[in-house]
Amino acid sequence: MYADLHAGWGGTPQTGSLSASVLDSLYSQIAIIDGTGQIHYVNRAWRDFGHHGLPPDHPWPGSNYLDMCHLHVGHNEAPSGPVRPQIQAVLDGEAEAFDYEYPCHTAQEKRWFMVRISAMSDHPGHFVVSHQNTTRRKQQLLAGQEALRASAQHSQAILDNMVDGVITINAQGLMESFNKAAGKMFGYSVDEVLGRNVSMLMPAPHRLHHDSYLQHFQHTGEARIIGTPREVEGLRKNGQIFPMSLSVSQVDRAGQPTFIGIVRDTTQRHRQDEEIRRLAFYDPLTGLPNRRMLMDRLKQAIASANRSHHHGAVMFLDLDHFKQLNDTRGHDVGDLLLQQVALRLNDCMREVDCVARLGGDEFVVLLEDLSSHAHEAATQTEAVANKILYALSQPYTLREQIHESTPSIGIVVFAQDPTSQEELLKKADVAMYQAKSAGRNTACFFDPSMQAAVLARAELEKDLRQGLAQNEFMLHYQVQVNERGMPVGAEALVRWFSPQRGTVPPGQFIALAEESGLILPLGQWVLETACAQLRAWAAQPATAHWTMAVNVSASQFAQADFVATVVAALQHTGANPHLLKLELTESMLVNDMQDVILKMNQLKARGVCFSLDDFGTGYSSLTHLKRLPLDQLKIDQSFVRDILTDTSDAMIARTIVALGHNLGLAVIAEGVETAAQRDFLAGLGCDAFQGYHFGRPEPAGVLQKFI
Ligand code: C2E
Ligand code: MG
Ligand code: MG
Repeated sequence: MYADLHAGWGGTPQTGSLSASVLDSLYSQIAIIDGTGQIHYVNRAWRDFGHHGLPPDHPWPGSNYLDMCHLHVGHNEAPSGPVRPQIQAVLDGEAEAFDYEYPCHTAQEKRWFMVRISAMSDHPGHFVVSHQNTTRRKQQLLAGQEALRASAQHSQAILDNMVDGVITINAQGLMESFNKAAGKMFGYSVDEVLGRNVSMLMPAPHRLHHDSYLQHFQHTGEARIIGTPREVEGLRKNGQIFPMSLSVSQVDRAGQPTFIGIVRDTTQRHRQDEEIRRLAFYDPLTGLPNRRMLMDRLKQAIASANRSHHHGAVMFLDLDHFKQLNDTRGHDVGDLLLQQVALRLNDCMREVDCVARLGGDEFVVLLEDLSSHAHEAATQTEAVANKILYALSQPYTLREQIHESTPSIGIVVFAQDPTSQEELLKKADVAMYQAKSAGRNTACFFDPSMQAAVLARAELEKDLRQGLAQNEFMLHYQVQVNERGMPVGAEALVRWFSPQRGTVPPGQFIALAEESGLILPLGQWVLETACAQLRAWAAQPATAHWTMAVNVSASQFAQADFVATVVAALQHTGANPHLLKLELTESMLVNDMQDVILKMNQLKARGVCFSLDDFGTGYSSLTHLKRLPLDQLKIDQSFVRDILTDTSDAMIARTIVALGHNLGLAVIAEGVETAAQRDFLAGLGCDAFQGYHFGRPEPAGVLQKFI
């Protein structure tokens, strides 16, 4: 068999023995087996190696390889999977060759062998089994793996000892690594985050941003955030949002993009920045903005006033006789006062306003977004100034001693004037000295005319209030006549006889009364007085049919209890509701139409009538007019004045008459001063007239002449 084989290989014994000697010279252990596993030949290395403890003189040819190959398996480190079927597959011609590595350790050393079983193409039915000692290669491999593991551990140790958080994510945004610092920063353990989307570490708005960013990357492969570190916000596990800086780099691992994010919690740095800002822009004693900050805010305020057309105001404020306190009780007590003043000032302000301390006892208040009307803005500022005057003049407790202090305030209101911050401060400062010379504990406007106007209004309001309390008001009545010139009633018009001011016409105080709310008690008084007069007329046969027109202000009508007060006035006085005519104006129709109609209907149900005053000057829409339960339209006197000479006035009057009649309403003209005007209006079909031509507003007694 041996010789056969030799002959079969080389064709001649020479070549055969040459082959055998070649095989014997190899380090690899070679055996030739047939399809049953029977060994036909083994080389020297095989014999010398003493497979599985068999002696070198073991009769190898003749024994079966398959019987011993199970010994490989089940050895201390078996190759994975059963090898027998795979060897069998080669022997059965189902596979070309089969390789496997198996360990074969002895007590002294660890060894590995590589086994290859392959078919001999030139000797069908025969197979070469070669065992090769791969121990050295295996050891190198194991050493390499070990080195790799050590290096990975080393890297992880570096990552874990880094102050910065390091997070790697894949192109899908899933986290692949998360170092200790990141864990500490975000409050998660590694296990809680690996494989999860990194967006869990971002507050909601950034999350959206991140999603769209990743989508962009997935579509285009373009990574826009790479490189430059950015300030973003992070979300901790406990829900806390914190500032952090983030820089991202991209690396490719096995062809897959991986993003490495380095994050740093910047809370501390922000605090430090804040502290630096505080020192640079705030007064350490009071915590208020300092001059630098004020100048900055002022500049912005001037720019914003220029844009928005809203006024702003600067108040310059200092404490009267502050020096005295400092001199008598010492600077630290002076400081205590300044601190308390700062607190009180802040309490007087809206969030948007700015209170600053310039130094010493000088404070500046900046108000923004005041009215676009100069006078209103001045009034608003004055209200704040009054609040400050009041707040700062309340007693202070300084080291258990009561201290009285008052401020002097200089005010400058600004709008679109191209002034500088310095100029504004100077003006306010000047005004403050005006306040000081005016006797202290007061506020002065820089603009003398503005100051005068504000003062005048304040005076008027004060007098109005006093006038109400002291019954300085009186009603005059102006007769209204029908188309035949017969008196049919009168309009009640309020008059104010002020001891200081003389007779004040309603045009000068009704608007202020409306703004200040004084119209409510005044209107109530008018209503009661007019109803009482109506009742008096009812008692006389000649005037028993007269109606009484009473003007009602929008704010009066808007009161929730308006209907009730009218009803109460009628009941008190016993006046006939059918003879009471309330004059509304178009201005009150722009608000809550639903409410207007409801109230009108409630009064209407009791018999009260309604006239629409000053008609033609407002913006009533026809649909509104149709829905209102009106009885009369009153053509405004501005159309009557030139009705004979101005064709468009005449046209308007004609239209109003036609409109009123079409809606089933009576039409009255007011301000009729001449017979010609009356005749013209009568020609248009006007039903009633009121004006100096028939009579001026006069006390009730004087109206007796119409009887
Ligand atoms: P109004 O309701 O339109 O009153 C008519 C105004 O025209 C009255 O002015 C009256 O004196 C004046 N007038 C009457 N006839 C003539 C005329 O022939 N020629 C001219 N040039 N004027 C004439 P008055 O009394 O100064 O009232 C002004 C406005 O004040 C009233 O306008 C009304 O809106 C308001 N008002 C007067 N009294 C009251 C009141 O008691 N309550 C309310 N809320 N407003 C009132
Ligand atoms: Mg009127
Ligand atoms: Mg009128």
